[in-house]
Amino acid sequence: MDTNSPEYKALIERWDGFLEKIKSRYTEVIDSSREPLKELISGLEFDSIVVHNALQGIKSQSVFQLDKKIDDTWEKMEAELEKIDINYDHVHPHRAKGEKVSRWMWDQFERFSVSIFADAARQIEKNIRDVVDEDVIHNCISCAGQLPVEVWAFQSVNVKCPNCGSVNTYEPDGRVRQLEGVYSAYADEFTVEERLLKEEDIKHAANYFKKYYGFIIEKLPQRKEYYERLLNDKLSNPQFVGK
Ligand SMILES: [Zn+2]
Repeated sequence: MDTNSPEYKALIERWDGFLEKIKSRYTEVIDSSREPLKELISGLEFDSIVVHNALQGIKSQSVFQLDKKIDDTWEKMEAELEKIDINYDHVHPHRAKGEKVSRWMWDQFERFSVSIFADAARQIEKNIRDVVDEDVIHNCISCAGQLPVEVWAFQSVNVKCPNCGSVNTYEPDGRVRQLEGVYSAYADEFTVEERLLKEEDIKHAANYFKKYYGFIIEKLPQRKEYYERLLNDKLSNPQFVGK
């Protein structure tokens, strides 16, 4: 049978309509999750585990379920097309339409979850900044003189006492350390499009890594050395950036 036959046209119409429905169903599930997520985020303290778990649930209700539906429905479609003896050249493009919708869902979900994690990070950052006392005085262990301490340090630092010269080790507040994770959520938000491109083609990987680590280094200059090393490790490894 040829592609002008009403049977063929009816089948394709059904398939296209089905794919449109998949897209609206996806959007529906995501939209209805926005309010509850917002509420969840406003109740966060210093970590975002509950948001992570909620997103897993939303992903299985949207991306995973709908992806499976596309596969199952395509199997039936393909059988129908075979029944009316349509040449394979005319079958393939319809399969590709299903793959495109699937890809669209995965990408949309990445964008969505990255933005939710960044919202969670903004809430957590606010909570941390509210509880950390910037004016707390640190005293030298030898002479009890006042030490010049950077409260927003992310790792322990050695501070030389300006009064007696002895070296004190300063351990930052554990919550301040957590602030570092907040910045990786911001970096994810800032580079999500580059990351999606990289997933399609590794030739975009170097660009992504530079932008990602560049962002963190700019925000956390005190951690520059550490992140520059991570960036250089990535850029020099074909496993991450291709050849
Ligand atoms: Zn001292």
